[in-house]
Amino acid sequence: MPAGRGLLIAETFGPTFQGEGPSTGRQALFVRLSRCNLHCPKCDTPETWDWARFKPSEVATRHSVEDLAAWVAACTVQRVIVSGGEPLLQQAELLRLLQLLPDRRVEIETNGTIVPLPELVDLVEAFNVSPKLAGFAALGDQPINGAVLRALEASGKARFKFVVSRVAELDEVASVAAEFALTDVWVMPEGTSSGAVIEGMRELADAVLARGWNLSTRLHVLIWENQRGR
Ligand code: SF4
Repeated sequence: MPAGRGLLIAETFGPTFQGEGPSTGRQALFVRLSRCNLHCPKCDTPETWDWARFKPSEVATRHSVEDLAAWVAACTVQRVIVSGGEPLLQQAELLRLLQLLPDRRVEIETNGTIVPLPELVDLVEAFNVSPKLAGFAALGDQPINGAVLRALEASGKARFKFVVSRVAELDEVASVAAEFALTDVWVMPEGTSSGAVIEGMRELADAVLARGWNLSTRLHVLIWENQRGR
């Protein structure tokens, strides 16, 4: 295999727990990729893309996929979460990394605006897709891409996790889920403190149940608040 450019990384950390979605509580290693194609004002990882606030030379480092695979191989934890930023911006190199990790269970967290390569779909266990609602997205961004959402649903490996701050936003979730026939819908409260996450879950729980969806916590926030690298 010819050497590639490597991956632009914001951070690697773990073992820790997957904090969100269907695998919550499972041990995992995290690889956070730099760069994003959206500009959400309330993004909790702006260091991956907001070059008005962060210097790329200080917050992004290029690693070879071989070095990253060696870091994963040094740990017995089976689950690897590839997060961002938007990881699929670097999917050609990401594919090379996953080809070096055939014995690991890999989840990719994506904002649902880029179609994954078929070879990548074959290698991942799941895509945790987080389409952004209008109130979360930046003016000028186009956070909902129907063709991409349909492609991810058709992969059979996507779970769709919507970050919601108010019960009233569930109508927007319902509209997106219905229009693109999304089958595995999760709602997660916005919040970077344990108090905000608990309050949000309490506010959303009954309405999410009534709509037949799933509710996600943010386990890492409940345990460690807003510490980086946990
Ligand atoms: S898509 Fe995700 S990583 Fe990108 S700006 Fe929005 S919240 Fe941040």
